[in-house]
Amino acid sequence: MRIIDPHIHMYSRTTDDYERMATAGIEAIIEPAFWLGNLRSSVGSFRDYFEHIITFERKRAQEYGIEHYTCICMNAKEANIRPMADQVVDIVEEYLGREGVVAVGEIGFDQITPDEEAVFRRQLLMGKRLGIPIVVHTPHVQKKEGVIRTVEIMKEEGVDPAKVLIDHNTEETIEISRASGAWCGMTVYPRTKLTPDRVVGMIKQHGTDRMIVNSSADWGYSDPLSVPKTAVVMRKEGFSRDAVEKVVFQNPFAFFKQSPNFTFKG
Ligand SMILES: [Zn+2]
Repeated sequence: MRIIDPHIHMYSRTTDDYERMATAGIEAIIEPAFWLGNLRSSVGSFRDYFEHIITFERKRAQEYGIEHYTCICMNAKEANIRPMADQVVDIVEEYLGREGVVAVGEIGFDQITPDEEAVFRRQLLMGKRLGIPIVVHTPHVQKKEGVIRTVEIMKEEGVDPAKVLIDHNTEETIEISRASGAWCGMTVYPRTKLTPDRVVGMIKQHGTDRMIVNSSADWGYSDPLSVPKTAVVMRKEGFSRDAVEKVVFQNPFAFFKQSPNFTFKG
């Protein structure tokens, strides 16, 4: 089984994880820019972080035969720290043309504040102008409201939903995301997000089109093998090998293939 994990934060993972992921069949991964557990105090910290994931993390993954790609942005959580957030948005475009940078992301809402919305709109428009994929994070609290606002703003700004991946959907939001025409991410994250069983239930209900599974593994209690584990549950539940491969490989491949920097041959 060929696998892509389209959302994982390897910055916070060990080399043992890379080894286990490669063994489980993960061939390519996408690392969106996010917050680092504490709030940064200057634009320079973001520059160093972007540089780290674009160069060092890509090289580290290659040592395990895994192709590593990156999404760059000002994340939702630190979007509330202005004017720093605006200064970071000012430099994001410099990084979007770099080798292996395949999308703007993960942008969106955290607490659903006006500051977050302003920073979200600017970056959404940047993605639209450049014609590249956009990865949208949805909030942990008030998720439904966050997804509704996200879809409204996408429409207001005239963003092509085929270029957008709305991530971290649950049973509560999946219909809204699907109706928007965007790609729909589901995060298997033990304890606080979905289990493989719940993801498979959502796929049974809504089909495999535009459905994408990721681990979002980071510093929290998370699992870099979430995508292969979901593939196993799909097979056990009677999905064909083609249907499984569509969800864990072909769909993320097709979404990120909209970026000229996604050079993964597939
Ligand atoms: Zn994330």
